[in-house]
Amino acid sequence: MNLELDGKTALITGASVGIGLAIAEGLAAEGVNLVLVARNKERLDQEAARIADYYKIKTLGIAVNIASASDVKETVRLVEERFGGIDILINNAGTGSNETIAEATDEKWQLYWELHVMAAVRLARGFMPTMKRRGGGVILHNASICAAQPLWYEPIYNVTKAALMMFSKVLAHEAIDHNIRVNTVNPGLVLTPDWIKTAKELTEKSGGDWQAYLNGVAEEHAPIKRFASPKEIADFFVFLCSARASYSSGSAYYVDGGMLKTV
Ligand code: NDP
Repeated sequence: MNLELDGKTALITGASVGIGLAIAEGLAAEGVNLVLVARNKERLDQEAARIADYYKIKTLGIAVNIASASDVKETVRLVEERFGGIDILINNAGTGSNETIAEATDEKWQLYWELHVMAAVRLARGFMPTMKRRGGGVILHNASICAAQPLWYEPIYNVTKAALMMFSKVLAHEAIDHNIRVNTVNPGLVLTPDWIKTAKELTEKSGGDWQAYLNGVAEEHAPIKRFASPKEIADFFVFLCSARASYSSGSAYYVDGGMLKTV
């Protein structure tokens, strides 16, 4: 299948590890030049150099906090300067939470709002003008199954991811006249280093069988009874970026091994 992605430029937030890194590799394998964004400069530069070298594409690592308005502004400026804009924007950076509504502070709510919602708003506003100039583009949001089916220990995560999914829907409506397709992907359980770290911590005092713990999580939540690999999610993103998904806009796709309990 020819995805017609060769020579395009994509910006991916949260691209230094986990799902974002797998999307970066998936797009690089199709000949896409990459802007990789995350906060930890050392890890980012290392991955940017490795991917550029292996896939023979151009990469640029930008170490910024995308929850900050001024950092997003600087990111847009740098990308304009180096690449003259982008064709694909992947809003992937995000993180889980753990709180009760009774106890979480306004500051915590605000932090997640900036990271999960405003970063996507500001990046879309910053990059849509150049996408229009280039004749179109693709914007994808990595929300979560929790945008529709909450996990009770993380209300702030559930609420802000639901807001991101609605933002994606309304942006799709505004952008389609400019040939910009906007969609959301909602993964279920994805085996990223963060899950392994948490499992190791939780099982430390009870014998350290972190794999059994993760198997239990998958057994409980996912009918497919296993976690996805980051690549299984990334492949779906790459397809949605491609010309083979040219009629897809304004949708939310669940890639969750059957975890969503409704139609
Ligand atoms: P990881 O924790 O493995 O990676 C997160 C990435 O985002 C890192 O590159 C991190 O780098 C970057 N990042 C985090 N905060 C910021 C910030 N403020 N500014 C810039 N970069 C930031 O996450 P996953 O790969 O597990 O998840 C990726 C996305 O997928 C998230 O939005 C998550 O909610 C969603 N998701 C994950 C699932 C899972 O099971 N793993 C399931 C469903 C959805 P650095 O720390 O250096 O900034």
